[in-house]
Amino acid sequence: MVFYRNSIISDQQGFNRRWYAPNLEAVYLPTHATDVVEAWADVIANKKGSGGELQITGGRHCYENFVYNPKTKFIIDTTGLRDYGYDSRYGYYIDVGYGNWDMYRIFNNVYGLTLPAGSCYSVGLGGHLTGGGYGLLSRLHGLTVDHITAVDIVIQQDSSAPELITASASENPDLYWALRGGGGGNFGIITRYYFSDPPRSPATMYSDAFTFEWRTITSAERLGELLEGFSAYCSIQNDQELWSQFGIFHANHQAAKSISVIFYCFDVPSEGKTGSDYEAFLLDHISAMRRQFGDIAPLSDQPGNVIGHPWHGDTRSVAGPGDGTLRQYTYLEGVQNANGSGPNRFGKYKSAYMNKGFTPDMVEALYAGLTSTPVVGNHVPLDMSQSLCQIDSYGCAINELTADATPIPQRSSIMKLQYQTYWDNASPVGCDNQEQAQGHLDWIKGLYTDVYAVYGGYPNPYEDSSGTVDGCYYN
Ligand SMILES: Cc1cc2nc3c(=O)[nH]c(=O)nc-3n(C[C@H](O)[C@H](O)[C@H](O)COP(=O)(O)OP(=O)(O)OC[C@H]3O[C@@H](n4cnc5c(N)ncnc54)[C@H](O)[C@@H]3O)c2cc1C
Repeated sequence: MVFYRNSIISDQQGFNRRWYAPNLEAVYLPTHATDVVEAWADVIANKKGSGGELQITGGRHCYENFVYNPKTKFIIDTTGLRDYGYDSRYGYYIDVGYGNWDMYRIFNNVYGLTLPAGSCYSVGLGGHLTGGGYGLLSRLHGLTVDHITAVDIVIQQDSSAPELITASASENPDLYWALRGGGGGNFGIITRYYFSDPPRSPATMYSDAFTFEWRTITSAERLGELLEGFSAYCSIQNDQELWSQFGIFHANHQAAKSISVIFYCFDVPSEGKTGSDYEAFLLDHISAMRRQFGDIAPLSDQPGNVIGHPWHGDTRSVAGPGDGTLRQYTYLEGVQNANGSGPNRFGKYKSAYMNKGFTPDMVEALYAGLTSTPVVGNHVPLDMSQSLCQIDSYGCAINELTADATPIPQRSSIMKLQYQTYWDNASPVGCDNQEQAQGHLDWIKGLYTDVYAVYGGYPNPYEDSSGTVDGCYYN
């Protein structure tokens, strides 16, 4: 019997403080897949939930207000679906009630395995995996959806009753294809994911970070040189020795005072890439990157801001000790250290995939956006210190699949960009400072539109004969 109760205020808000469901009446709390069937049948029998009134939630990290909005009256909250194990047909399975950190602990500690999923601990598997699920191991092991062998999902077709089915390569294959990247909430209520051959866990994670002070980046040309250096690193796709590295360029707004570059590196014991020789190889490579970047702009001896995903606050917990060694963690410790989601606050995100480095137009627009401070109300400058364009290295194993293998067609991109702007204030739950919010929203929209102006204001591959941009992330 599925548990059902009136909503409490905690049920009404997403991770992003912008998203709130003021008209939420009740919440279904299934603890088994059959409860999900029952909950959905109850919604239909009582004619509740039409026209977007019923929503599904997992980890609540949706970038947009798909779940928490004024239309929502009923939520099926999948938090209580928590089982994992091994199935002889489809392999290792895990239920959607878990988040990333639970998944990493279970897969690593119980099986010695892992998935190339996202870094932030609190992101839920329900929405995350069906959206693609990429993270620090994706250059080495592809997207998480590339490893999914089956999905259990409750669907409802025509006017028939909801039913629990399995989608795999042999059962409901079209649905199986769609669920490996088609995004949350589009096809039914997923209850369980299966993986036949997840990668073995690394033993060790290494990291290093270096920082440039914004005051030394005095022109768009200088920023362009740094971006060119990072794009050149991302362009090296054929050298498999580098696939276990994940570089992130945090192009922070000037108000943050610094720009940071971080490398997260993993050993691969199953391929013999481990131990002191491997460490020496990594150190050589990262040291060369340091020198190369240091020739463009002076490296700072101060910690730099790390305000995107993963969120660290600043570089101190990921920078090497600065004595010619990298920072070293056990794999589990490294995953935990890099799993920050950042404070709960207001935020807006945009994204873009890129197949090639930045054009001069893009660099100009980025420089202009990252050095401009919106002014609202009575000449009040906004605090932009939590705003950035985060540039993740991408591709490698991800690009081993063809564009039509899954609903995620970006299989030749070398970088994935996440534009982010955050703000906070002491408004009561469900409220925001509208001027402050609008200032941030206008800023990020303006930046994004300007960067992709020649393609129509967004990274539209159909308007790009040069093949530089490749669409954006949806989920
Ligand atoms: C701080 C932060 C960090 C992130 N980091 C990463 C990252 O490193 N890598 C990455 O790939 N993505 C990342 N994301 C994006 C994230 O994967 C998506 O936003 C994802 O949809 C969140 O899933 P959720 O279950 O937490 O969210 P929810 O808000 O609960 O759900 C998101 C969407 O999925 C639907 N959904 C939820 N559960 C189910 C289910 N069981 N069946 C069907 N539909 C369901 C919801 O209805 C909604 O439409 C991040 C997002 C945030 C906010």
